Amino acid sequence: MCDTPTGTPEDVTGAAAPGTSRRHLLQSALTAGRAALAVGALGTARPAAARAAATGTAAGGDRIVVLGLDGGPKINTAAPPLPSAKPALALVAGGSTYLVDCGLDTTRQLVRAGLSFADVHDVLLTHHHLDHTSGLPGLALHSWTTTPARGDLRVWGPPSTSRQVKGVKAAFGEEVDLFESGGGFGAFPGLRGHDVTIPRRGGIQRVLEDGNVVVHATRVFHGPEVEDAYAYRFTVKRTGKVVVFSGDTAAPDAALIELAHGCDVLVHEAQDNDNVEKIVASIPDRAQAAALRTHLLESHSNVADLPGVARAAEARTLVLSHYTPLPQPPSVYLAKARAAAERVGYRGRIVAPAELDVIAL
Ligand SMILES: [Zn+2]
Ligand SMILES: [Zn+2]
Repeated sequence: MCDTPTGTPEDVTGAAAPGTSRRHLLQSALTAGRAALAVGALGTARPAAARAAATGTAAGGDRIVVLGLDGGPKINTAAPPLPSAKPALALVAGGSTYLVDCGLDTTRQLVRAGLSFADVHDVLLTHHHLDHTSGLPGLALHSWTTTPARGDLRVWGPPSTSRQVKGVKAAFGEEVDLFESGGGFGAFPGLRGHDVTIPRRGGIQRVLEDGNVVVHATRVFHGPEVEDAYAYRFTVKRTGKVVVFSGDTAAPDAALIELAHGCDVLVHEAQDNDNVEKIVASIPDRAQAAALRTHLLESHSNVADLPGVARAAEARTLVLSHYTPLPQPPSVYLAKARAAAERVGYRGRIVAPAELDVIAL
């Protein structure tokens, strides 16, 4: 393991060397917030207001707020506890909110969760699949025009992140000008992208550090076409708690296991491989169907493999996220994960949240 210090704002350390993606082989107790769905407590739909209220009770404490769990680029309109919001997770530490990914619904989910835009300073993108990024324009713009408004916002992610953020500013320049000149919103706050570059050979890279957290990243395998997919590890300075977000990857990923070693919470994407053929069968074009099957099976993580990852990483708690390939209640994922945990001897806690659930640290 090695740590490399943060580099320049626009291009954070390291050179992008050519190469191919590779398939990696294989303390405190975490207390679930009132809204968190833990082992044995899943599958019950709660009104959004009730979830929001429960979220509010955790205000002030360090926590994970689950904003969006619906993996994949297709929009669905499922009702809770089925996922429908595109992927985004918030880590609240020391009063600041750090976003991991920014799917389409992120801005509205932040409001529903009772989180203030004024506390969001950093967004970390795991990769450039659009289910993780398409909410960026909405967040950048509406968090300026909603009270309390955001301040400066930094967006960190794999190469092309800075270009993407510049593109947002360029594409909405007219809209920004109009509300800067009228409407009472004041000057558009700072918005800056930072390319995080990790060498092809891998390793663990420091991304950012502030008064609350230190964030490290590593490469994970997410299919041969995705050259840059990252997992992030947050270390909360005040408490020493460590939370790792897998991003999208195919379990077991050895680099992720190294990054997550000894962590308090491992948030890992979860796919129900038993449903892969169902979604494949729904696609009339045989070539497209075959391509989807390949992508799902080679680039994502069967939920049954995740307790083994958590065991290898010695993670105290495993939190499932990014449910694919079809909407179904979190309880289904939990049951499969618990059965696998029995088989591999993982004794940590397993949490299968619904959207807007809170996991206290
Ligand atoms: Zn995804
Ligand atoms: Zn992806």
